[in-house]
Amino acid sequence: MTVVISGKELATLKRTKMKEDVSTFEQKYGRVPHLAVILVGEDPGSVSYVTGKEKACIEIGIKNTTIKKPNTISQEELLGIINELNQDDTVDGILVQLPLPKHMDSDFIIHAILPEKDVDGFHPKNVASLYLKQEGIVSCTPKGIIELLDYANIQIDGKRAVVLGRSNIVGMPVSKLLLDRNATVTICHSHTKDLASITKEADILIAAIGKPLFVKEDMVKEGAVVIDVGVNRNEVTKKLCGDVDFENVKDHTSYITKVPGGVGPMTITCLMENTIECFLKHMGEK
Ligand code: NAP
Repeated sequence: MTVVISGKELATLKRTKMKEDVSTFEQKYGRVPHLAVILVGEDPGSVSYVTGKEKACIEIGIKNTTIKKPNTISQEELLGIINELNQDDTVDGILVQLPLPKHMDSDFIIHAILPEKDVDGFHPKNVASLYLKQEGIVSCTPKGIIELLDYANIQIDGKRAVVLGRSNIVGMPVSKLLLDRNATVTICHSHTKDLASITKEADILIAAIGKPLFVKEDMVKEGAVVIDVGVNRNEVTKKLCGDVDFENVKDHTSYITKVPGGVGPMTITCLMENTIECFLKHMGEK
């Protein structure tokens, strides 16, 4: 029988616990964690992600400041805002919503955020910490994927994991986290030949390529665990869908996540967790 791992359910459990913890902070530390989000432009996807983050902050009791700037803002002006937030002792976490307009160098902007306030875990220092197995901030989506596997009690140690996609925000970091948990990891990308023969070997298959319903039953080993990271629009129904054709694949899996309701809610939840961790470090607790 296939189990659908609910990211929504785990996210609710984790948020309830975080809310309880945060409710004690005012008395203990004199304030609550503070997340500053910078949104440049009005890209509908970005606006919706930022709204989701604001809602999660309200739910948990984290202070949120969203700074909205038009597409025409200069890189210098944006760097100035980041500098101010870096120096503001009442701000624990800073997030710049990506993608940024074309006239900006996203890497340069992300590098300007203080690593200890980089709640997305995208700063090179945090990325290096992940690869060197040092303490640092782990980016939210890969962290959420591992938490989902743990929640479903899926053994990672010794398993064959295949990751579809090699981006810096999902494919690469989740591969490293799986490797750190002693999986044998294969990373596939757009130049991989005979993809299905590789994915069919996976005990754990992570799909993060951004191609609607790409993974079909002939790519999945019987009884595999399938985690769908993709967030796409179904070209026919126009509804949200993942990289995995859920209906086609589910009966061949032991565990699977759905889109929406799988990895997505965990990403925002891990962002809240990272904000709280940054706050606690800032308060000298960790
Ligand atoms: P990305 O930066 O565009 O990277 C996509 C990766 O997939 C690349 O490595 C690319 O290979 C590979 N790829 C593309 N087509 C392929 C194919 N036909 N076969 C094998 N590999 C292929 O995307 P991303 O930022 O990692 O995001 C991936 C998906 O996850 C998107 O749908 C995104 O919206 C979603 N996402 C969801 C969350 C969440 O919270 N749920 C968070 C982040 C991202 P090359 O390197 O060779 O180009």
